[in-house]
Amino acid sequence: MKCMVCLALAWVCLVSLAEALAGAQIAQDLRSTLSSRSRIYLPTDEGWPNEITQRFNSWNGPTYVVAVKPAVKEDVQKVVKYAAQNNVSFLATGGGHGYSGTLSALDHGIELDMGNFKTVSVNAATNRISVGGSVKFADMMVPTYSAGKAIPVGGCSCVGITGATLGGGIGFYSGMYGATSDSLVSAEIVLASGKLITASEHKNAELFWGIKGAGSNFGVVTSLTFKVYDPPSAGQVMNADMMFPVGLNGSLWKFASSWVGKQPKELSIMFSMLFDPISQQLLIIANIIYAGPLSKGQALIQPLLDLHPFNLNITYLPWKDIPDSANYGFPAQSCTQTGMTSIPYTVNLYQINFDVLIAATKFLSDSFLTTPALRGSLIAFTQYAPHGFQLYSDKSSAFPHRDVILYVQLEGAVLNPTDSPAIDSFGQNFRDLLQQSSGRKDVYTHFANGDEGPVAWYSARNVRRLRALKALYDKEGVFSFYNPV
Ligand SMILES: Cc1cc2nc3c(=O)[nH]c(=O)nc-3n(C[C@H](O)[C@H](O)[C@H](O)COP(=O)(O)OP(=O)(O)OC[C@H]3O[C@@H](n4cnc5c(N)ncnc54)[C@H](O)[C@@H]3O)c2cc1C
Repeated sequence: MKCMVCLALAWVCLVSLAEALAGAQIAQDLRSTLSSRSRIYLPTDEGWPNEITQRFNSWNGPTYVVAVKPAVKEDVQKVVKYAAQNNVSFLATGGGHGYSGTLSALDHGIELDMGNFKTVSVNAATNRISVGGSVKFADMMVPTYSAGKAIPVGGCSCVGITGATLGGGIGFYSGMYGATSDSLVSAEIVLASGKLITASEHKNAELFWGIKGAGSNFGVVTSLTFKVYDPPSAGQVMNADMMFPVGLNGSLWKFASSWVGKQPKELSIMFSMLFDPISQQLLIIANIIYAGPLSKGQALIQPLLDLHPFNLNITYLPWKDIPDSANYGFPAQSCTQTGMTSIPYTVNLYQINFDVLIAATKFLSDSFLTTPALRGSLIAFTQYAPHGFQLYSDKSSAFPHRDVILYVQLEGAVLNPTDSPAIDSFGQNFRDLLQQSSGRKDVYTHFANGDEGPVAWYSARNVRRLRALKALYDKEGVFSFYNPV
């Protein structure tokens, strides 16, 4: 028995040594070819935790033997070529907020940290903004707002705009302007061959179609250019946060369903449910955003005010401050953390079925009471106005499911490793319950667990077209670690 343990330990040591050697070899090979300002790190290097972008969610993440931080586009081309020729897996990192479980397929590869690609340039005269491949929403919101413009950003400012755009990108301005990817004008992208090309409506148009929604499958983006817009009310936006006991969920679902078919494009609704240790019950935080005059916003939320929330906070802010202020600023506080473990289970809903949502809330309440492991988790229900998504046809890009009414997200925070099985099982049951009622298994690709498959992420029609595109641009499947087609 002792000998078996020794053998196992020796095997682990050998594997670790082989990995370290592989990393060192890759580092040595690349060091001789990359520009002088690029940087290469081994996991044992002091700079690894601070100078390399760390992941927000460590659940089912990729593993790396070396990280490369290219300084210029030519460096990116060289790394991609090197990795493809030597059959080494690699993945670009932008903001580090991707969390699909498919990322775990990347084992002992190269992390291509795009952290040096962080330029932001707004041109108010042409209504354009250009950003480097690692820019986060937080980096481009102030310059865009200061120029008097707006763009649909995500609900959390710490997310990478490139990563988000490659799968869509949704947030409170989506009701007006669609997904972030709908505003994309052009992309500079390094293909599996190492070639750097521009994709737009006029150049490589089919690839441009695929980048907008399924972009992680096609290359490394060095920069993106977007349209920007003149926002209503000079970019001032109402943010209303309020708290309700779970017993009022029926009234909240009634409020949500009252907007179906007539939700003003300026109005976004989000209900988040979490466990309140004091009352030992679920607590519902309602976040209502209205991108127009304050008086109109207040009138729209009157039915919620009539329910007498036990906490109320209404502010009127520049849109650039919304992601960091919404939901009492809680998401913004957690967004900059790294290394947490959270298991996602998510589903798109295409109608607000009152009875189903009441039953789902009861299931949540009962489960949180009986299963302490769930008590760090959060469930968010988000309802954007369809107007912005409907401005663009289904054929306009690979971003699918434009008829979503409600995005339902479970973020199953694992506070203790032994809690994972309970969270997993609960997440699957919760997702099953909602999927059975909707009859569809679609999910927004960026909120996906990773077990749903390409049809759920991209739609059956898009998958056929995406696979044809993949055969043209990435036959060998070099870019296959994030919800691959
Ligand atoms: C706290 C939190 C809040 C979120 N809120 C929202 C939201 O409100 N709306 C929304 O739409 N999404 C949201 N998301 C999801 C987010 O959009 C995706 O996770 C997105 O993939 C993150 O991009 P990233 O660059 O930050 O992450 P990364 O992990 O760096 O990248 C994710 C994927 O994009 C690829 N990628 C990133 N940069 C590049 C590049 N330059 N070239 C090629 N590929 C690249 C990576 O290779 C990877 O496949 C949220 C996620 C978290 C964790």
